[in-house]
Amino acid sequence: MAAIPYDGVEPFPGHPPTATTPVQRRIQVAVTALLVTAPLLGLVAAVWLLWGRGVGAVDLLLAGFFYFLTGFGVTVGFHRLLTHRSFTAKPALRAGLAVAGSMSFQGSVISWVATHRRHHAFTDRPGDPHSPYRYGTGPVGQLHGLVHAHFGWLFGDDPTDVDHFAPDLVAEPAMRRISGMFPVLCVASLALPALAGWAIGDFAWTAGVTALIWAGLARVFLLQHVTWSVNSLCHLMGTRPFATRRHDRATNLWPLALLSMGESWHNTHHSDPSCARHGVDRGQIDLSAGVIRLFERLGWATDVRWPDPRRLAEHRLSPAAAPAPASASASVLPSALPRTGPLAPRDRAR
Ligand SMILES: [Zn+2]
Ligand SMILES: [Zn+2]
Repeated sequence: MAAIPYDGVEPFPGHPPTATTPVQRRIQVAVTALLVTAPLLGLVAAVWLLWGRGVGAVDLLLAGFFYFLTGFGVTVGFHRLLTHRSFTAKPALRAGLAVAGSMSFQGSVISWVATHRRHHAFTDRPGDPHSPYRYGTGPVGQLHGLVHAHFGWLFGDDPTDVDHFAPDLVAEPAMRRISGMFPVLCVASLALPALAGWAIGDFAWTAGVTALIWAGLARVFLLQHVTWSVNSLCHLMGTRPFATRRHDRATNLWPLALLSMGESWHNTHHSDPSCARHGVDRGQIDLSAGVIRLFERLGWATDVRWPDPRRLAEHRLSPAAAPAPASASASVLPSALPRTGPLAPRDRAR
């Protein structure tokens, strides 16, 4: 995909439609709508159930367990291991993380990795699959862009060429198999908590149903929106303590740090994509980095690319920004062009 000229302000030039037939296009949209709305309906049902009837501790414990299991599958597995190669994992761990991430209803592992590498290759300029700047930097364009970056892009017809962006995974039989199992893993992601809740609840069907709603649908819904918020909010608001490439407006957004398992230190990540730790400054919680550290201690992960103080210092925009308070260091307003600093030639998705 060749770079398209872009001034950092205007809407991105339109992409030619690539839908094969109208029927296929309708099916695409219907499946995406199902993946996006089913968990939302689950949350609505959850609130209805909670009203006057409550929800059990088992439901919430199962929800937490599956939230972090599938969440680390995405952050540690899909993102830091498979997209950016921040460390090397033993084959069983690599496959296990890919399976866990696939259970998050965010697409198959190969398409997730390809899309995310494309995001790094074209960040916030034409070619980026989910930039909030797609419709320009005016107030209306910015709102439109926020919806687009959050989940509107999922409904668009702008597929990412997996052979171009993820040839390594396409060539890996285990990843091809896990990608092909995506629909089954989605079903398992809902069935497992339901079965666990049913078994723990003395095989009462109501216990299975509440576990399905809380630890299944509502949990998927929450993780989806947290992940999507990294794509939308973490390119729109927050601080930018580190230099990124031209047009790249990725930000650090502390309120999402815990729920996103460290992924909302997104400016730091875009500044040094293959670093295994995104929350590099004191007090910046990064649970995913903690999990990678645990894997390293167990001998399951090697060659971990931990932060390099020299590299960090090179990319830090101002020493005063460490750690950046929320009010300092350029809150990125729609009309403000990013503080890009020096170009980093090695700043590629790897
Ligand atoms: Zn990003
Ligand atoms: Zn990334």
